[in-house]
Amino acid sequence: MAILAETPQENEREKGTVLEEMPKAYDAQKQEKHWQSVWEELEIYRHDPYDRCRPTYSIDTPPPYPSGEFHMGNALNWCYFDFAARYKRMRGYNVHFPQGWDCHGLPTEVRAETTYKIRKKDLSITEFRDLCKRLTVQYIEQMKRSMKSIGYSIDWSVEYRTMDPSYYRLTQLSFVMLYEMKKLYRAEHPVNWCPRCETAIAEAEVEYSEKEGNLFHIRFRAEDGNLLIATTRPELLPACVAVAVHPDDDRYKGLVGKWMEIPLFGRRVNIITDEGVDPNFGTGVVMICTFGDKTDVRWQKKHNLPVINAITENGQMSEEVGKYKGMMIAECKASIISDLNRQGLVEKSEEVKQNTGTCWRCHTPVEILSRQQWFMKTREMTDDVIRWTEKISWVPSFAQRRMIDWATSLDWDWVISRQRVFGTPIPAWSCKRCGETVVAKREWLPVDPNFETPEGCKCPKCGATDLEGDSDVMDTWMDSSITCAVHAGWPETGSLDRLFPADLQPNGLDIIRTWDYYLMVKHLALFGKAPYKTVLVNGMVRGTDGRMMHKSYGNYVEAGEVLEKYGADALRQWAAAGGVTGYDIPFRWSDIEYGRKFLTKLWNASRLVLANLDDYDPEAHVRLEPLDRWITSKLESLTQKVTEAFESFQFSVAIDAARNFTWHTFCDQYLEAIKHRLYSREPEDLLSKRAAQQTLAAVLLRVLQLMAPICPHIVESIYQRMRLPQRRRSLHEVGWPAVNAGLISEAYEREGDLVVAVISAIRRLKSQRGISLKTPIKKLEIYCEDNERIVIQENSNTIAKTCNVNTLAIGKPSESVEGITIEGYSIRIREEDAQL
Ligand SMILES: [Zn+2]
Ligand SMILES: [Zn+2]
Repeated sequence: MAILAETPQENEREKGTVLEEMPKAYDAQKQEKHWQSVWEELEIYRHDPYDRCRPTYSIDTPPPYPSGEFHMGNALNWCYFDFAARYKRMRGYNVHFPQGWDCHGLPTEVRAETTYKIRKKDLSITEFRDLCKRLTVQYIEQMKRSMKSIGYSIDWSVEYRTMDPSYYRLTQLSFVMLYEMKKLYRAEHPVNWCPRCETAIAEAEVEYSEKEGNLFHIRFRAEDGNLLIATTRPELLPACVAVAVHPDDDRYKGLVGKWMEIPLFGRRVNIITDEGVDPNFGTGVVMICTFGDKTDVRWQKKHNLPVINAITENGQMSEEVGKYKGMMIAECKASIISDLNRQGLVEKSEEVKQNTGTCWRCHTPVEILSRQQWFMKTREMTDDVIRWTEKISWVPSFAQRRMIDWATSLDWDWVISRQRVFGTPIPAWSCKRCGETVVAKREWLPVDPNFETPEGCKCPKCGATDLEGDSDVMDTWMDSSITCAVHAGWPETGSLDRLFPADLQPNGLDIIRTWDYYLMVKHLALFGKAPYKTVLVNGMVRGTDGRMMHKSYGNYVEAGEVLEKYGADALRQWAAAGGVTGYDIPFRWSDIEYGRKFLTKLWNASRLVLANLDDYDPEAHVRLEPLDRWITSKLESLTQKVTEAFESFQFSVAIDAARNFTWHTFCDQYLEAIKHRLYSREPEDLLSKRAAQQTLAAVLLRVLQLMAPICPHIVESIYQRMRLPQRRRSLHEVGWPAVNAGLISEAYEREGDLVVAVISAIRRLKSQRGISLKTPIKKLEIYCEDNERIVIQENSNTIAKTCNVNTLAIGKPSESVEGITIEGYSIRIREEDAQL
């Protein structure tokens, strides 16, 4: 049964790329492993930087945070990247599909502490960073194993890690360049702050959700009587710097410009007016505290009010709050309310829903603190961002709106400094004598100002050499927002000519506002150009219970579990078929199971085909029969459909079409209807057999090609066993099939559809009668119209042989005939005599 090419593969056969046998059952795990190692050895997924003939196609993939885990959400992300990469490679592109790792960040710091049972504060910065690195390396290896076993065609020769000096030198270079371009500044400005993580965080890292809270109506003593103020944050009373009312609010007209006293603290503040006060909220009087929310930040600036920092960086009350000092925020809130109650100053409290911002990593409510930070001037770039976003193609298109909405919603600049240890050091110092900021020269990079003050580093203002290194590190998005330029080879001269901008920017819906946005602002600022041409967005994976897949929900599935049970090609089919591009997709074991069934179907059909191509002459001149022309036409239409689907990244459309065709048109209909031709030993049937063989070989090869981006392993397994006039060392190096539109014929398809409809009706009839499909029927009559009769007549041999009918009679349509009908046709079939 071995079907092998004659000569060109000799040396590959020695290497083991050609398997001699087609085992009865398809062992996915074994085959997949085998082909993965063959591909790796052959280096077929390498991007060739010296190839100037093929057009390049660069994919800027988001470097994941190395958590060690690879769950189905990750699997979906990478499947999308890989479908695109494999398809484009087959289309003749020199594809650049690198893999990076976004190493830095708080989660690793926390895990290093728990894994090694240490406390960061007990170690030196270097020692602690080394532990973080060690853990990261381990996690990367774990994730890499998963990625390789799903068969992603990543070019591992261009792997990078953001924690390596070779990479973080580039992050620092981007910082220095932006500083030179006056796009960065250092200032004391309120920032979103996570008191648990003890660091500034960007707006993109704040998650907003509705939370239950209490609105307290508190009585204040004013210069002229009393005032009621409703607030959800009584713990900020000590940070109150003014009270505001709407200028047209008649209730308070007489109070404007007068003072009011803060209960418990006795401090007096002014009553001012602001158009932004909503007279209908609470009592129409608002405390301005530094800082309860962003409105406070705006009003403090606008009315030139003082700043009182009531909360410290670790979420405790500061010394500004007297006896509440040292309490945690919640504790202080309870204590202040009970003190106010004791004095009878709480008029009432009511439950309200509040939109609360929490830290995306630890879900602690975010505070707004003012502290010296580094910022990138992103707000002034909003118009530019919108202009470029509109030029780019977004799949699906609603993602473009998301990006624009996000960019326009930002009212603060991007805070890029973090008060952490495991991160890219900020390459800056400040002068101990005059306070001036000194930023590194390009040639000093990489540099860690915690430990180094390079030769010639001195204050540009006063000339002092006594400098203090900046101990902050950068936001990890600073690391990963230059991937596109880095992939292209920046900062080497001329590097941006070829792989920049990336042709494809594929990523999850959840990181449009981070990765897509930060890449955009960084590259626009540095290079004056958007970093990508097309953004391909995938949705999120929902667990079996319909909720987002999350460890804490118990609906979390690791890719490894699916691989172990079903293998990669079944998993990949789920990713392709699970849903429309850009929308959330559910994880269902039944989908994976269906994928495996398809593989079995394809494998069995291929075994049958290959077993019957032993004596096949691929060069023979043949005359196709109606069903051959029928499936050929359908095959070309399918090719057209699948090609269009891949071109527009509609993977579910591609796989649905390819699987349906393979399963039904090819296996259930065509294969069944031509078996008699394959099995015939009559010399006069030889030409008919040759035509069937040639059609089978062509259809099978085409199906393998069309399925190659989604099921790369099984198609390779089958391809390597096909007898072909020429064979490449891998199916993945065979080009994408061109559509031969000349072979598409509506007439042929109509004709073939009629034949297969008749065959399936006869089979239905047999099963209704309880006769096995193999049992011969002595005589069968088909009543039909003239136009149908011609087709049935021409194919009567196929129909009779396929259905095991001894005599097939064809008559005129007649209402009086009992029998079964075929939907869509005026055909009635009657079994003349069931008895033999
Ligand atoms: Zn946090
Ligand atoms: Zn100085």
